[in-house]
Amino acid sequence: MNRATRRHLEKTMGKETADNLAEKIFQFNKLPDHCTACQRSFNKKDKEMVQEWKVVVKQEIVRLFCPQCIKKTQEVINER
Ligand SMILES: [Zn+2]
Repeated sequence: MNRATRRHLEKTMGKETADNLAEKIFQFNKLPDHCTACQRSFNKKDKEMVQEWKVVVKQEIVRLFCPQCIKKTQEVINER
């Protein structure tokens, strides 16, 4: 991708698109109810959990990671 194309994409899509998408998923309750990696259950009504856990959206697949798995799966998260 050349620089002009990248700039155009950022202008049309916005740099924050991925983050906004994650917020929408929280809002619309499309969140998995467990950690994608270790299956630990997630309580979306627990504000601490909501802040600590991380949603990764890639190609419309929603993944949810608990704090422990965030470190382990850092590579996956960095791919987005
Ligand atoms: Zn986990």
